[in-house]
Amino acid sequence: MSMGHDAPAQARPPATFERSGEVLAHLRARGCSTIGQLAADLGVARSTVRQRLLHLASGGLIEDGPAISGNRGRPAQLVSFASSQHLVLALHVGLTGSRVAIADLDGVIIEERLVELPVSAGPSAVLDELFRTINVMHTRTAPRSTVAGVGVAMPSPSELTDFGPTASVSTAAWDEASVLQMVKDRFQVPTLLDRDVNVMARAEYARLDPAPDVFACVKLGTLIDAAILVDGRLLRGVGNRAGQIGHLKMAGSDAMCSCGGIGCLNAVASGDALVRHLRTVGVAIDHVRDLVELAHRGHGQAVGAIREAGVRIGQALAALVNLLGPGSIMTWGYLADTGAPLSAGIRAGLYADALPRSSAQVSIEQATLGDLTGVQGAASMASEELLRPNVIDRYLAKGSWLEALPNDPHYLGDAPPTRI
Ligand SMILES: [Zn+2]
Repeated sequence: MSMGHDAPAQARPPATFERSGEVLAHLRARGCSTIGQLAADLGVARSTVRQRLLHLASGGLIEDGPAISGNRGRPAQLVSFASSQHLVLALHVGLTGSRVAIADLDGVIIEERLVELPVSAGPSAVLDELFRTINVMHTRTAPRSTVAGVGVAMPSPSELTDFGPTASVSTAAWDEASVLQMVKDRFQVPTLLDRDVNVMARAEYARLDPAPDVFACVKLGTLIDAAILVDGRLLRGVGNRAGQIGHLKMAGSDAMCSCGGIGCLNAVASGDALVRHLRTVGVAIDHVRDLVELAHRGHGQAVGAIREAGVRIGQALAALVNLLGPGSIMTWGYLADTGAPLSAGIRAGLYADALPRSSAQVSIEQATLGDLTGVQGAASMASEELLRPNVIDRYLAKGSWLEALPNDPHYLGDAPPTRI
């Protein structure tokens, strides 16, 4: 790339790549900039900025914009972040189907697809199909771009235990470390993995303005799970087990939960529980999706069961509201997609059980990103990690994304995903 009117004819990168990532971070925040603007903002010499930009250009991370008239009447070159030369892949493994997406390095999704294969098919079968789908998408949409990293969102181990395994597939097969290794072996790039509801919470939180001090994202799908952010940080808890709202005990219920407990929210109000309940009363449905469809058609029993589940979910959320005082609760999943019956039930349960002054101030909305919340969260998780200034510096020095993240900052249970 050209570096403007005063670029040296044969600039050679110096031995150090330090702080190129800082220039890139600044360029991303600022948008298109000239060398002069970047030098003034960062308080360094124009020659220093120019050298760092050369490194970034050689790594395919910036591109020239148009030339503009400078203060002294000479044209100055604008440069900008080249987000599309490197790709981020996102995998959202769901209990009954998974979604894959290709995003640019900024985490903006370019294309996505749903792969309808349940986790009970086992990780090899599911991941092979996801990899095949990604390959088709990559070849078609961005064949010249290289993959820089992968973000993986997975259900919690307890959800997989409850729902995933079959006689032929053990729960251990869906062990997070094994899945992470399979993905990494396939793409040979840094791979990050976290619980699906965690990445969804982060994706939705990033869109809130103003952002509340306490935020909860509740997954209302085949099973129920939640993630809580306090001041923008995930509340992970011991063993990364915080947020398992699906196992709060509901008063007056004696339904058996797969955890061995009695009266868990999952046993009375999850999509799985509703499907089983409706089957016992003669409604022919196989999947939570069928339930959503019946509700949209105004099927009386389906609507009634969903509203009742909403009340139970609202009661569980009341405990969360009384304890943590979230300013905003986002719901996501098949049950949330049923719309009015569920939200009316949730409000009834919440307002009945939460302290009035707390419940009056909490906003309950459906996730704005819809079906893409999981892949968006996974893409953003990988993108944020790859674009850290020190990771960029190492990428430029090593010429390899995998070597840029040598510490493998993936989710490992107790630790947050970001440990660089
Ligand atoms: Zn339970």
